[in-house]
Amino acid sequence: MASEKQVKFVIVGGGIAGVTCAEQIASQFPSDEVCLLTASPLVKKVTNFRQISKTLEEFDIEEQPSHVLEEKYPNLKVLQSAVRLLKAREHLLETEDGQRFFYRKLCLCSGGRPKLLSKDNPHVLGIRDTDSAQEFQKRLSTAKRIVVIGNGGIALELVYEVEGCEVIWAVKDKAIGNTFFDAGAAQFLIPSLEADRREASSLCKRARYTTDSSAAGHSGSSSELGSALGPDWHEGIELRGAKQSVRGIHIEYECEVEQIYTQQELLQSEHSTKTAELGVWPAYVQLTNGKIYGCDFIVSATGVVPNTDPFLPGNNFDVAADLGLLVDDHMRTSEADVFAAGDVCSAGWEPSSIWQQMRLWTQARQMGWYAARCMAADVLDEPIELDFCFELFSHITKFFNYKVVLLGKFNAQGLGQDHELLVRCTKGQEYVKVVLSGGRMVGAVLIGETDLEETFENLILNQMDLTRYGEELLNPNIDIEDYFD
Ligand code: FAD
Repeated sequence: MASEKQVKFVIVGGGIAGVTCAEQIASQFPSDEVCLLTASPLVKKVTNFRQISKTLEEFDIEEQPSHVLEEKYPNLKVLQSAVRLLKAREHLLETEDGQRFFYRKLCLCSGGRPKLLSKDNPHVLGIRDTDSAQEFQKRLSTAKRIVVIGNGGIALELVYEVEGCEVIWAVKDKAIGNTFFDAGAAQFLIPSLEADRREASSLCKRARYTTDSSAAGHSGSSSELGSALGPDWHEGIELRGAKQSVRGIHIEYECEVEQIYTQQELLQSEHSTKTAELGVWPAYVQLTNGKIYGCDFIVSATGVVPNTDPFLPGNNFDVAADLGLLVDDHMRTSEADVFAAGDVCSAGWEPSSIWQQMRLWTQARQMGWYAARCMAADVLDEPIELDFCFELFSHITKFFNYKVVLLGKFNAQGLGQDHELLVRCTKGQEYVKVVLSGGRMVGAVLIGETDLEETFENLILNQMDLTRYGEELLNPNIDIEDYFD
């Protein structure tokens, strides 16, 4: 018989947003029951949180069995079953295994799934969670050539990490890493891709992932709904192809996939005469620039689509252009008592001029935490202001083994012609770019050990007029920290 339960707070999703939200609300309301419903067997928890500067934060992620959370918060119950239905008007959720939950406040943190080029094509792989990363590794071990499609963070890391396999990388832009960088930064990074041997990272501080699925009682059936990997997802997973020493990366710029063929399909197509020259491969990719490449498989790393399917039918959610659940500055969706956080939501408030949403780990944590505080404020009928973390976009990560810090409108997003760039670059060492608008700093890209993040963060936050400093701002002989102290 299906069970029915009344719970004051229900959170859906065992990723960073959901777990952070559940922990925060469970600690704020220790005598109320909090339920975390998740499709994945392990939950993701933030550990070793470090506030590096006013807005920059770094932390590790641990995948843990749910009982660890339950032991820490006795009022928190974690149930592993995917939600299949939401009746927002009735405040009712139903899970795959038939349990029904009547909630007072609900927070949806169901993340996203890879935007696949082609859904049911066995030659196309998306990377999202531990399962799909392992599937990728398995297939790579016998592969001689793969085609990578996409130009975001995942594609960047992937092409850099793969060894022993030829990589054809198709990017739709004029430069690699367009989501994070401009052409100058891309130029700075390209030699790292061409380098023969990469040194093992000695600076890596981030999480290694638990990949022992048997320990978690992993059924495999829920793999589509696993939580997203994050920084250093490839750590501990050897990404080696079938070739001995080849590390050939070939980049095709400004193109997308036109068509994917199997061998049979290629033979029957207008390109059948090219089969001899293309060689024998399990799949062929025709790009929009007309070129065709044979490959073992294709990795689709073209972003994520918010996981909203179980929640939309029969309800009245406002959905953003990127298909996320639109939330206001209190993380409320358009359905009463339903909040959302992390990759599943789209920030619908008027953002600060130096913040933008990007579906990143830090924002998942910040949104989960802030959503819990908003739910609490709602229940207690207390006012709450938009958290300071949404004042300035800031992200710290690593690409190609370089430390990368992105601040504000780091790519002059939304500024049109109304900006000026200052760049300083030392090959193989650092790349510093500052975005100025009206003489004030509005963004920066810092690659390498520049030690400039705190000073620049302050300059962006306080919007000081920097006109009189001109290019001196990036003069390496001036200690900029002293300058502005
Ligand atoms: P998720 O982590 O996706 O969690 C969603 C949760 O919801 C999961 O537990 C899932 O099982 C559950 N769920 C889904 N549907 C249902 C349902 N119907 N019922 C119940 N539960 C459900 N970000 C960075 O900042 N830096 C990086 O270097 C970086 N690298 C990345 C590399 C890869 C390969 C990927 C895929 C992502 C990367 N990201 C990175 C992005 C980052 O991982 C995400 O932004 C972040 O994990 C989002 O967290 P979330 O909690 O919103 O969603």
